[in-house]
Amino acid sequence: MRAIKNLIPIFILLLISAYGYQVYFQLPKVIVSGIIFLPVILALLVISLSIHFNRSSIFFYVILVAITNITLGLELANTDLGYALLSGFVPLMLLTLTAMPDRGIVSSRAIPAYAVLASSIVFSVVMMSMSPEWLTHLLLTDWLPARYFDWTQQPQAVLFISISVFISMLVLYFLQPSPNMSAGLGVLVMLLIQLHLGYTDPSLNVLSSTALTMCLYAVLQESWRMAYLDELTELPARRALRERFQKLGGLYTVAMLDVDHFKKFNDTYGHDTGDAVLRMIATKLNKVTGGGASYRYGGEEFSVVFNGKDSEAAKPHLEALRETIANTPFIINRSSSRRKSDKKVKRKKNKSVRVSVSIGVADSHSNASTPWDVLKLSDKALYRAKGKGRNCVCLM
Ligand code: GH3
Ligand code: MG
Ligand code: MG
Repeated sequence: MRAIKNLIPIFILLLISAYGYQVYFQLPKVIVSGIIFLPVILALLVISLSIHFNRSSIFFYVILVAITNITLGLELANTDLGYALLSGFVPLMLLTLTAMPDRGIVSSRAIPAYAVLASSIVFSVVMMSMSPEWLTHLLLTDWLPARYFDWTQQPQAVLFISISVFISMLVLYFLQPSPNMSAGLGVLVMLLIQLHLGYTDPSLNVLSSTALTMCLYAVLQESWRMAYLDELTELPARRALRERFQKLGGLYTVAMLDVDHFKKFNDTYGHDTGDAVLRMIATKLNKVTGGGASYRYGGEEFSVVFNGKDSEAAKPHLEALRETIANTPFIINRSSSRRKSDKKVKRKKNKSVRVSVSIGVADSHSNASTPWDVLKLSDKALYRAKGKGRNCVCLM
């Protein structure tokens, strides 16, 4: 679902650019002369933002858009082989840079990414000047009947590379849907269209501006996620809760939830297993009924806000949440080794454990003037729940 949601803005931008491309020559002169600067402004903006937020994949997408447009604009790939090399290498570089782990932009760990870019450029330039027979044959031969490909100028080998890269990017995207990956897909489509159409003013100004806007959108979306979402659980974090509290008024309930004996759990099963439990609890919190919105308050503490409900009305939903968490078995893979007739035998033991949570609840009817005061009261109720033996819900 998230995969489809991330693609919607990219798809809308694609439609807008198709429209912009169609009507480009009907645009008033003033607008056209302004649009000329758009790709440069966008490229500089996205490059500085991606360096600031250390988004290396976005940075390299912009570099690829720039390389493509400079090469097309200055007609540097002016032979058939040169154009085929550009059209083949751009998607391949995009795929390689996407598949490489994020290693920063201005760091020695980013050297492999620069090496991929530099070696592709050097290889293309050398091959263009040498025009070896084998490469010309490989890239420019019609391997399949030419009549199926009369809709494009691109050689069949380039089409094969483009389609393979597009499918690989789709697979990578659905394996790990993220704003960066959706921008990668969008940029790939824009570059493929640009290389198919060749160099024209609308292709530079409309198509490359769209590709760069996709990158800008991804950087902004990623920085929003960094600011508002908790990295471990992907629940809204404390900053999001603070903003929610600023808007909260009238009748509302705030619940505080704390994992029981979590220190002991970490000590027994390890911190990583503890993290996995927090993620499991977050998925249950995401599905809390009654219109509750969940936040990670910090550590192993979470908050749930019910707008328009008092604590009595919110209680059944919190009870259901507590019960779901307490009844969800959590499977731990533990490898154990033991000696069996002098041979060390490794065995995987799956152990099922359960965790519980205690919940304290208070509402705006109580003696509190701000949501933070209500939260303090629910924290007090939480301590009472702990005192009552844990795995229960206590109202203020
Ligand atoms: P109680 O039932 O009274 O709440 O006992 P407790 O052990 O849960 O309470 P305490 O506050 O002493 O311990 C909280 C533990 O939560 C300590 C800390 O190691 C663990 N914790 C906090 N944040 C994280 C996290 O992000 N990941 C993991 N794995 N553990 C965390
Ligand atoms: Mg705690
Ligand atoms: Mg605890």
